[in-house]
Amino acid sequence: AAAKAPGDPLVLPPNTSSEHFQNFIKRAREITGSENVFVVEREDQLVDGTYMEPNKTHDMHHLFDRSYFTSSATVAPRNVPEVQAMMRLCNEFDIPVWPFSIGRNTGYGGAAPRVPGSIGLNLGKNMNRILEVNTDGAYALVEPGVTYYDMHQYLEKHNLREKVWLDVPDLGGGSIIGNAVERGVGYSPYGDHWMMHCGLEVVLPNGELIRTGMGAMPDRTAGHRDGLRPDEQPGNRAWQLFNYGFGPYNDGIFTQSSLGIVVKMGIWLMPNPGGYQAYMITFPRDEDLHQVIEIIRPLRVQMVLQNVPTLRSLSMDAAVHHPKSYYTDSDEALTDAQLDKIAKDLDLGRWNFYGALYGPEPIRNVLWSVIKESFSKIPGAKFYFPEDRTEENSILRTRAQTLQGIPTYDELRWIDWLPNGAHLFFSPISKITGDDAVLQYQITRKRCEEAGLEAICDFVVGMREMHHIVCIVFNREDPESKRRALWLIRTLIDDCAKYGWGEYRTHLAVMDQIANTYNFNDNAQMKLNEQIKNSLDPKGILAPGKNGIWPQSYHKDSWVL
Ligand code: ADP
Repeated sequence: AAAKAPGDPLVLPPNTSSEHFQNFIKRAREITGSENVFVVEREDQLVDGTYMEPNKTHDMHHLFDRSYFTSSATVAPRNVPEVQAMMRLCNEFDIPVWPFSIGRNTGYGGAAPRVPGSIGLNLGKNMNRILEVNTDGAYALVEPGVTYYDMHQYLEKHNLREKVWLDVPDLGGGSIIGNAVERGVGYSPYGDHWMMHCGLEVVLPNGELIRTGMGAMPDRTAGHRDGLRPDEQPGNRAWQLFNYGFGPYNDGIFTQSSLGIVVKMGIWLMPNPGGYQAYMITFPRDEDLHQVIEIIRPLRVQMVLQNVPTLRSLSMDAAVHHPKSYYTDSDEALTDAQLDKIAKDLDLGRWNFYGALYGPEPIRNVLWSVIKESFSKIPGAKFYFPEDRTEENSILRTRAQTLQGIPTYDELRWIDWLPNGAHLFFSPISKITGDDAVLQYQITRKRCEEAGLEAICDFVVGMREMHHIVCIVFNREDPESKRRALWLIRTLIDDCAKYGWGEYRTHLAVMDQIANTYNFNDNAQMKLNEQIKNSLDPKGILAPGKNGIWPQSYHKDSWVL
């Protein structure tokens, strides 16, 4: 390689000379202040970090070389006009930019860009205000840097949990905006985060600022007035109350997308239900899966199961308790006999179901009697409340927090299943039927066994479907383990596509492969996506390659991994 000039990044953006890059950085420093610009110059600056202290430059759970999915520099705007200025600058210099809010997108790529050498736009560092919490309307308006944990602390500090609850995902450190725009999920009745968002403020690829839904309508009664910066204008009073506004509904195109940078978002909070009870139901046999799912479907569709419940494989709960080495010395995946023994030792089932009841006691009692009666049809099913589980690291006790919107960090532990544990999520969508669940589980286990990796999985039950989340844990310091993890996810994507099962979200490394499985009618949807991309972002500077959508300025075929 050519000798690096001082100030050159480890990885330059595509087709960018050192001089051009340095001129760009100089201008970026003028926009955001030098303290908010960081150039990745050396390999040793790529420190993986931890969930609690994530890096902002590359994928902590690197599946390829650590320095492959890496930004050339990170830039942290201080406000909306600086985000707009950065977009104009990237257009002027023809340099790709990858926005992120916090960069804890663990299992999907973290803060890393799809195109090596992109500028990482770190929105969360400085733009982290809770702009409003409204208890009458039960909503909040936030900036990208607001995490679930931040919001939780705010609600606690102001004694607002008496009025409203927040829905949180498994881990509390992510951005409320980052998670919703990736269509992530939580586990209370408000678990579908995108469904519960209301109103966006977005910077378009050309630097233009828009508000969606009712936000498009100025509201003088809310204090909207001439002379204020657009991003500082108070929003329409119904911006966070009614999603659709007038005309085509734009919000969806800003999720899992490369069409805009979300700088404000409304999120609905759940009114405090006036009572709460978390529970766990264990099922002793691996074969119970079919019947359990058949029981879940009508209860969930009718909302007798009020929240987004999870049916977890024993391996997931076992991994929260101990690393693999505690259970076995073998390099292979655990056998059924081993799993049965672990279930006995941990006093858990082969499948463990976590849910919660919401409302005053009489309501909870009625729901619980229906739920209990339904699942009692399965021989050996056992029912627990948190006080029944006094063991250390009780998963029910953790879930009892999560399901009422109190963020935790306990679920991090399953990543340590292997030494130097890293992970990748494989997450197909399916119908809520016993047949679908069993077939997906069989395919997954078979491929995991072939790869010598554990099938750590759960079924997350939405309104009408299930997200089957398979956590592929690998050793990031062992090239063979990484190779197996990549083989496993690629194979599972193809296997599942044969049954019409597609993934809801994915890691950078397999975005193209998955995009190719959504190919109805000669890839008609991809053609539409490319058309929109090319018209809103003609130079293709915003997140090129995200979710398999490549701008016209890229030779798509040469970028596929
Ligand atoms: P987390 O909230 O889990 O830390 P990230 O901040 O890493 O998530 O964001 C995950 C992904 O979501 C990013 O890689 C990016 O593609 C997208 N994203 C995050 N924040 C925004 C935003 N404000 N505008 C547009 N896309 C975003």
